[in-house]
Amino acid sequence: MSAENSEVSNNGIVIIGAGLAGWHVIDAIRAKDKDIPITLITSDSGDRYHKPMLTMAISQKKSAADLVRATGIDAAEATNVKLLANTQVTDVDTTTQQLQLISALRSDPVYTNYATIGYDKLVLAMGAHPIFPKSLPEELVWHVNHIERFGQLQEKLATGSQHVAIVGAGMVGTEIAEDLLKAGHQVTLIDLNGAPLSQMLPPKATARIAQAVKSQGINFLGGYQVSAITRLSDGKLQVSYEALASVNTTAEPIEPLIVDHVIASTGLTVDDKLPTAAGVDFDRRTGIVVDAPTLRTSTANIYAIGDCMSIDGVPCRYVAPLRAQAATIADDVLGLDHNGYEHKPPMIRLKNKAISVMVTGVPKATGNWQVKTESDEELVMDLLNDSDEVSATVTIKSPVAPTL
Ligand SMILES: Cc1cc2nc3c(=O)[nH]c(=O)nc-3n(C[C@H](O)[C@H](O)[C@H](O)COP(=O)(O)OP(=O)(O)OC[C@H]3O[C@@H](n4cnc5c(N)ncnc54)[C@H](O)[C@@H]3O)c2cc1C
Repeated sequence: MSAENSEVSNNGIVIIGAGLAGWHVIDAIRAKDKDIPITLITSDSGDRYHKPMLTMAISQKKSAADLVRATGIDAAEATNVKLLANTQVTDVDTTTQQLQLISALRSDPVYTNYATIGYDKLVLAMGAHPIFPKSLPEELVWHVNHIERFGQLQEKLATGSQHVAIVGAGMVGTEIAEDLLKAGHQVTLIDLNGAPLSQMLPPKATARIAQAVKSQGINFLGGYQVSAITRLSDGKLQVSYEALASVNTTAEPIEPLIVDHVIASTGLTVDDKLPTAAGVDFDRRTGIVVDAPTLRTSTANIYAIGDCMSIDGVPCRYVAPLRAQAATIADDVLGLDHNGYEHKPPMIRLKNKAISVMVTGVPKATGNWQVKTESDEELVMDLLNDSDEVSATVTIKSPVAPTL
């Protein structure tokens, strides 16, 4: 595959976002070219950390600082990158190939000062933001999508056993529920659906996960919708919720929960401001559309990678493909010939210990799921497409109870 345009002037390569995606791109470029100017602009400190650790760290008594593998400053120095930390990109002008920047620190005296910076090649690696439904006001609830916010929550939880409600039993919600339980907290996990992971797996599979989660001691409330959260005078939070008649036919009338903290894990969305300004093909739910073999967006000289990007209408929100995607971007921006990135959906593995859940392919809740193996210890199901080909497989293993 030949590169789009190998000419790179002094503006060099600009990367927006210092998460795993942005840093992978830097590593991949530096593996091929030690000198080309790279600027990394990020609204946080740019510190390098492994985000999947955020759902394992509390039970391991790890603070945010413990999870930082290198500070942004040190990592930038080691990779010969100009780091603009605590800086937000607010606009992209694709005609002049310039970005508009603002300080991301509201307390900063230059908060209102704008600056501009040019790019030859631009990589959008700006991640996705947690969705906060109206009933979960951002100022009352936590999220674990960023190390900074995680760190504040971890500090609160380190003071002793507390009651935490987690809203949303997708992978992140289900993992953090177990992690908090292991750390000695009381955990209530609430989801609209009758079982965890119901948005990606069929009921027969999710029923096993619900069973494992409950038998572990997590109070799983399936088929309930949080209707309001209120701060009480003693600082605790009142979580009001109601049964969804369509899912939960046996629900008893319910008293509001009184908890110390609420964590929202209700999905991610991609901010539309920069994609719109850049004129790239974009869907708010799934992200910036890229051409899979090159990771190019629909706008010249702009690439996308990580949580903000989607391939074939499917968001790409896992760590495993980042290295190969970043290598392709590196070759393409440097004007090197390459074979093209070949996208394979990554293997998805739930990090919970109470049950082992492994998924390959592109799973979805509905569709022609067929049982391949079924026993008390194991369930294997295939999702068949219209041509009867396997498009996803889920393997669930329950830990065998130890013999006494
Ligand atoms: C709790 C948790 C557990 C996970 N566990 C797993 C797992 O086990 N396995 C797995 O494969 N995946 C897992 N994931 C998903 C994986 O971690 C993410 O897909 C990946 O880390 C996303 O990296 P990113 O760089 O695209 O986004 P982010 O880490 O969100 O980084 C985005 C960066 O962009 C910056 N930014 C955003 N907007 C702007 C702007 N306008 N201007 C400047 N900077 C901006 C932000 O400050 C940030 O630095 C997990 C995710 C979470 C939240």
